[in-house]
Amino acid sequence: FRSASVSVIVLGASGDLAKKKTLPALYGLFLRGLLPAEAAVVGYARSDLSRADFHDRISPNLEKVDGSSDDSLAVFLGQCHYVSGQYDSSEDFAALHDELIRLEDEAGASESGEAHRLFYLALPPKVFASVSATFEPVAMSQRGWNRVVVEKPFGRDLASSNELVAALAETFTEDQQFRIDHYLGKEAALNMVVFRFANLTFQPLWNRNYISTVEITFKEPFGTEGRGGYFDEIGIVRDVMQNHLLQLLALTAMERPISLSAEDVRDEKVKVLRCIEPLTLDDILIGQYVANEETGKPGYTDDDGVPDDSRCATFATAAFNIRNERWDGVPFIIRCGKALNERKANIRIQLRDTPGQLFGDAARNELVFRIQPSEAIYLKVMAKKPGLGDELVQTELDLTYHSRFPCETIPDAYERLLYDVLRGDRSHFVRADELEAAWRIFDDVLHKLDDGAVEPLPYVYGSRGPDAADDFVAARGYVRSGDYSWQASSQQ
Ligand code: NAP
Ligand code: NAP
Repeated sequence: FRSASVSVIVLGASGDLAKKKTLPALYGLFLRGLLPAEAAVVGYARSDLSRADFHDRISPNLEKVDGSSDDSLAVFLGQCHYVSGQYDSSEDFAALHDELIRLEDEAGASESGEAHRLFYLALPPKVFASVSATFEPVAMSQRGWNRVVVEKPFGRDLASSNELVAALAETFTEDQQFRIDHYLGKEAALNMVVFRFANLTFQPLWNRNYISTVEITFKEPFGTEGRGGYFDEIGIVRDVMQNHLLQLLALTAMERPISLSAEDVRDEKVKVLRCIEPLTLDDILIGQYVANEETGKPGYTDDDGVPDDSRCATFATAAFNIRNERWDGVPFIIRCGKALNERKANIRIQLRDTPGQLFGDAARNELVFRIQPSEAIYLKVMAKKPGLGDELVQTELDLTYHSRFPCETIPDAYERLLYDVLRGDRSHFVRADELEAAWRIFDDVLHKLDDGAVEPLPYVYGSRGPDAADDFVAARGYVRSGDYSWQASSQQ
């Protein structure tokens, strides 16, 4: 695509996502020389903004990377345009089209005959279908490919997700759609497939004979902080478990794809998701944070817009069983919550006890992929403690990205994924059948939780969550040795 003219049209460009993620990711690609110099970035929204207003709005989030020149920002902004219009007006989209033709021709499309368009829907999902149906006949390129990026939430249950998929399919083929799940663009998540399939070390162990539990954890140290009214409609299961964390589970559990092509990888993810038994209320524990008297942090229901009797989950732990010959009986446990003691996302694979136990109670090996913050992959192992004694110590084989790859800057997940869209690589985007398989696992339990079938367990803002969550995990076979301590070097 580099030689051809490409326009990136950000619909909803006046909003939060565009400002915080989409435009910074495009700038990151520009700084790396991966966004063609002729590419136009065109913001589109109803807000009546001048081009200068648009630049002022996006500039504070456009950060330099090492080695970029001082005039980079000005050059990038020179490629950023803004068109104001309604989302249900063919005339306004026709005006957008005219502007795009002008920019594309200026970039040489009239000579090359090629002009591609990437439409990024940074809009509330309820308007996706009508917006795309309105711009489809008037604003699509006739001189190259058209691709559309859509953001979560993809519906709120199986039925509404299927409706959304069907509505967008009226306008775009499956190949044109890129459903973004930014966890699939995170560096340590991308490494899961490499670790599993490029190292013989792990391949023979990656099954129910050696693995005791898999734990996928997402923790946030802040609560809803004023956005509780919005969150109350969603809850933590829809917010992160059904999408981001289930995607990590699929990467951890899927079979080896036939090739690295997008369809082969996604076929394997769909297959493993379809092997997961739908969740029941026995498989999930939910919690809701309460005020912390010591720190003065508020409880969830103190947030504006949250009803006092809300049963919305701000914390959840769920156990999944994958009914296939590799995994049957191995609990895959997803734990996630807001207002906890730290910010962290990781995948923890705990192996079984060493047969024979020559050294008594040696702790179990664990392979941990830390996705954020500060990417690392470490294998917790037993070793002899240095010295004259015979003591064992739990230590780690450690791949900390900052120390091992000090010169590499790790691109933001959005940057990586937008690059994939420009290249036409769909591997790290969610296919429609994958979405359906994911919703099927949660549909019944989510409806029951929506009906208030379970009272969430209280936990204090800033704690590790409800104590019962540790019991839930222990009851399913996770064994915590408790005597592991990490000696961080100055580089971490
Ligand atoms: P937003 O700020 O609420 O909306 C983006 C823009 O859409 C607004 O500036 C507004 O622009 C327009 N808009 C808002 N409500 C509308 C309505 N009812 N009808 C038509 N247009 C409307 O949303 P956002 O936070 O940028 O998120 C956009 C999408 O990304 C959503 O699907 C969201 O769930 C998803 N998402 C966001 C984030 C994030 O970090 N913000 C993260 C993950 C996913 P104009 O009024 O100027 O037209
Ligand atoms: P850990 O702290 O022993 O945690 C192992 C598991 O036990 C986690 O699921 C943890 O849950 C749980 N747990 C923690 N405290 C508990 C408690 N009081 N009761 C019951 N369960 C509890 O081991 P780790 O997480 O593997 O490593 C410890 C620290 O060392 C981490 O901060 C890790 O990032 C750091 N480390 C860093 C590197 C590196 O940077 N390369 C390498 C190795 C270790 P939670 O998830 O809720 O804590």
